[in-house]
This record gives sequence, structure tokens and C-alpha cells, in this order.
Amino acid sequence: MIQISAPNLQGCTAKTSSNNTNDLGIAPDNGDHPRWQTQLADAIRDPAELLNLLALPDDLLPQAIAVSLQFPLRVPRPYVSRMKKGDQTDPLLLQVLPLAAEAHTSPGFVADPVGDLAAQSSPGLIHKYHGRILLVVTGACAIHCRYCFRRHFPYNQSNPLADNWQQARQYITSNPDIKEVILSGGDPLSLSDDRLDQLISQLEHIPHVTTLRLHTRLPVVIPDRVTPALLARLHHSRFKTVMVIHANHGNELDNSVKTALAQLHNINVTLLNQSVLLKGVNDEVNTLKILSETLFNCDVLPYYLHQLDKVSGAAHFEVNDAEARRLLKNLQKLVPGYLLPKLVREQAGALSKLPLY
Ligand SMILES: *Cc1c(COP(=O)(O)O)cnc(C)c1O
Ligand code: SF4
Repeated sequence: MIQISAPNLQGCTAKTSSNNTNDLGIAPDNGDHPRWQTQLADAIRDPAELLNLLALPDDLLPQAIAVSLQFPLRVPRPYVSRMKKGDQTDPLLLQVLPLAAEAHTSPGFVADPVGDLAAQSSPGLIHKYHGRILLVVTGACAIHCRYCFRRHFPYNQSNPLADNWQQARQYITSNPDIKEVILSGGDPLSLSDDRLDQLISQLEHIPHVTTLRLHTRLPVVIPDRVTPALLARLHHSRFKTVMVIHANHGNELDNSVKTALAQLHNINVTLLNQSVLLKGVNDEVNTLKILSETLFNCDVLPYYLHQLDKVSGAAHFEVNDAEARRLLKNLQKLVPGYLLPKLVREQAGALSKLPLY
């Protein structure tokens, strides 16, 4: 069940050594399967098991089963361990539990709300904004977030980079304006350390690229993903490295996450967080305040608070713009300026995320 579809990065040169030795003084993983891969494979996929583990009522089961046929349940156990037993309204549970509400259609909620399919400049490469491109390096995620705008993304048809890495590389090479490459997905950290090493090495050969950015939820949902090999590779990269993690609630950031993030911070990775504003999860000013403060305590600054992308199946998470602005206005009175995320919406065809506050 594990398989993570790692793209076939054709034309990759011999991989540089990234395992076993590092100068960070951190013991490497032992064996062929690092612990994070076991945790990935062992993620909960069966709604009955999730309800059981959390001592939740059986009457949630039929809808969870029906809805997960469209977009399967998937949640790693370290993340489940931060949920409160017996609480149907737990803010972490609500992000992963398939509910009947997902089957409701709602006007304006569509399959590809951000126009990603149209924006592909070469397969798996999205060039929407000046100076930076986004690579969809895998369709795999460690966790399936019910509100995700990629829930209908046809990864199999436009199999990110898989057979098209040369084309993507050519595109970046011939566009000297591209200073930053963003690895996205899916979750780019669901690739193995070897795959990432190969990809980063190829990108390092393109002189005008100065910044590498990873958009990932893995350090939050499986903190063991921050392996010694990953740390060593990023540490030795010539790139300025930015990691944008994704947490929506302070309860997601326990001590194991804090430890993983501290290791990234120690090798000078710039750590930012993006959240999605979600009804029932984080649409209270005090919840957002605690999230910002907890992030800061983990060496992470809040970056974006996204208005929900209007993807079909997620309408029940929507917070309207007036309410969103009111929340931000109140949050601004409670936190220092550097802990206030930018409230934005993604709009197809726009030249940047659109600020709402
Ligand atoms: C969000 C996004 C980016 C990054 O935008 P920033 O404002 O720099 O964070 C880049 N490319 C695409 C396609 C995006 O969706
Ligand atoms: S892309 Fe991000 S938000 Fe979407 S399912 Fe994967 S981890 Fe969750």
C-alpha cells in the first residue's frame, strides 16, 4: 500500500552522496526504510479504524465510507495522536474526516478553482507569477485534507514531471527571470531523500535559480520526515532555502513537530506557515492567535492565511470574506505585526495572490 509515486527524473546525473555521513552530528536512520516511510505506509485509510481509535459514534461511518470513495481518507497516526478522543468537533479531525456535507454541490464550487490546469507551462510546471515557478513533483500526500483544492486534480493525466523533466528543466533554463523554484505537489517531501537530492542537484546546475522553496505539510503530520539526510542535503545546497509548512491549528504543533522544525531552523532554512481559514477549525480569533504564537515558538512565521479555494465538496468549510476580514482585524489587535498572516485568495489568472486585508 505504501507506494508513493516518485517521478522518474529522467536525465538525472549520478546522485551525490547524501546519506550516512553528515556533519550535523545527527545519527542517520538505520535500515532501508526510514521510520517516516513506515509511518506513511501505516497511515489510517479505513474510516472504521479512525472512528474506533477516537471512540467516535458508529453513525458517522456510512457517510465516511460513501464520501471516501471520491477522495479517500488518509491520515498518519502521529497526527491522529494529537486529536482529542470522543470529540467530533476536534479541529484536527474535521480536517480529515469524510463527511456527508462533501457530497453536496454548491454554486461556485468547482473542480479546478485556481486554474492550475490552464496555467501549466510544461507538464507539471506552473508559471503563474513573476520570477518563480511551481513544480508539481508528485501527486502523493501523506494526509488527505478534505478542503484541498487538489482533491480533483488529475495527477495521473498530467503526471507531474514524470516523463517531462527535461522539458521542465529546459523551460527554467531558458527563462533567466526565474529566480525561485517551488517544489509542490501533492507533497514534495513524500519523495525519498534520494529523489529530492537528484532533483535539487539538477536545479543547482541552473545558474539563475537562487532560491529553493518547498511547500509541505509533512514536517507537521510526520515530523520524522525531517531526516538527517534531508537536513544534510539542504544544509549543503547553494540555494537560499525556504520551507512553507501548512498548519491550521495550534494543536497540530506538538513537541515532536517543534523538534523537527528546530532542526530546519538550525540549518538556516527560512520557515513560514500557510493556513487555510476553515469554518469550525480555526475561524475564531483566539484560535488564530494561539496558532501564530505556537508557530513562533516553533521558529516559524505566519505567511498566508488563505481564503478557501472554491473546490466542490468543500463548501461547508467556507468563511465569508466579511467574516474573514473581521477576524484579521481583531487578530491584528492581539499579536505583533510579524505574527499577522496575510489574508489572501488565489484567483485564476491573477498575477499574485489577492490580498483581502
Ligand atoms: C502560490 C503560488 C506561488 C507562490 O506565491 P507566493 O506569493 O510567492 O508565495 C507560485 N506559483 C504558483 C502557481 C502558486 O500557486
Ligand atoms: S496538497 Fe496539501 S492541503 Fe492538499 S491534501 Fe496534500 S497536504 Fe493536504
